[in-house]
Amino acid sequence: MTQADIAIVGAGIAGASLAAMIGDRARVVLIETESQPGYHSTGRSAAFWSESYGGPLVQPLTTASHAWLEGFGFLHPRGCIHIADADGRSELDGLAAEMADGRVPHEWLDRIALEAAIPGLRPEFQAGLTEPTCRDIDVGGLHGDFLARARRAGASVMTDAEVTQIQREGDGWRIGTRAGAVRATIAVNAAGAWANRIATLAEASPIDIQPYRRTIAQLTTDPAMAPDMPLIMDALGRFYFKPEAGGRLWLSPHDETPVEPHDVAPEELDVAIAIDRFEHTVDWRVVRRERAWAGLRSFARDRLPVYGFDGRAPGFFWFAGQGGFGIQTAPAAAMLAAAMLLDEPLPEPVAGLDPARYSPRRFD
Ligand SMILES: Cc1cc2nc3c(=O)[nH]c(=O)nc-3n(C[C@H](O)[C@H](O)[C@H](O)COP(=O)(O)OP(=O)(O)OC[C@H]3O[C@@H](n4cnc5c(N)ncnc54)[C@H](O)[C@@H]3O)c2cc1C
Repeated sequence: MTQADIAIVGAGIAGASLAAMIGDRARVVLIETESQPGYHSTGRSAAFWSESYGGPLVQPLTTASHAWLEGFGFLHPRGCIHIADADGRSELDGLAAEMADGRVPHEWLDRIALEAAIPGLRPEFQAGLTEPTCRDIDVGGLHGDFLARARRAGASVMTDAEVTQIQREGDGWRIGTRAGAVRATIAVNAAGAWANRIATLAEASPIDIQPYRRTIAQLTTDPAMAPDMPLIMDALGRFYFKPEAGGRLWLSPHDETPVEPHDVAPEELDVAIAIDRFEHTVDWRVVRRERAWAGLRSFARDRLPVYGFDGRAPGFFWFAGQGGFGIQTAPAAAMLAAAMLLDEPLPEPVAGLDPARYSPRRFD
């Protein structure tokens, strides 16, 4: 039987980043159902870093992750323009107020400036707000780097090892997997959309983490989206699109359909809705739909992440509810969680954060 101090269930960006940040200060085992860690949400994201995304209580985690992501070369310039038609104008004003409070750099664009930045933008869109610090994230590189750091520090990674049983044994846990059993003092729930199932196996608190489907379509258009154009985000949350290599673009209808955790596939209707909204936004012609995919974004009821020890099951630690911001917040979230697990002071990048905001105990 594999012995560990900390067993982390799930080797997506959450589990991998946490194993990397714990480093060699504990014996860590990462346990993953799939043969390919990153197969689920982590491998399906839109890959951007935006300080305004997720709201004011997520922003400190995003901002605190910047130094790590930039320092190790995982961020690339992109920029973002939030646009609004008459229906979205009050949301755009609200976003500007949030950005001012969080000191996220931004600038208003009038219609003339908007037209120059987004040629072919339909006249209904009269107002825009730039977010110049927005970046693309090299998600594959980041996830691979976290896994490599974890392995170098001595962590073992079990794949094809779906966890089917979690039982209290002595002062720790016996975790049954399809690739053998693991004995660990602490069990970490980093199972993304499956977080409720893992909590149920351990008889932990029933914190409801709901998965929602989100769709992205890769398109070619005429004109092609210039590669240096920013991410274009609708203030009312009806779509976003950004350039992709080879003159393509990625378009999402910003859908959020509650589903059971599973290997999710895109629905034709969501792709059609995305294209319809896109064509009502710019006068570009959709030439080809190359591919589409969907992934799960999993949220707690208050849409904040859940990091910390469970109130009911001793030695059961939540690292779940990363919603639509799990990549961009990964370094800071993992630093915070590693410090909690190892009972250490919070390291510099996250020293100003209040872990109580994200505690599972807020639902007790
Ligand atoms: C379309 C889309 C766009 C997104 N865009 C962005 C973005 O631009 N920026 C951003 O920061 N975030 C974005 N996100 C969100 C981001 O992808 C997620 O927050 C993040 O990937 C969650 O990581 P995770 O490790 O918690 O989940 P996952 O990557 O899903 O990993 C969880 C792992 O747990 C494993 N697991 C589950 N049950 C078990 C079990 N019983 N035994 C063993 N292993 C198990 C699963 O196999 C899985 O590999 C987007 C998400 C989607 C879907």
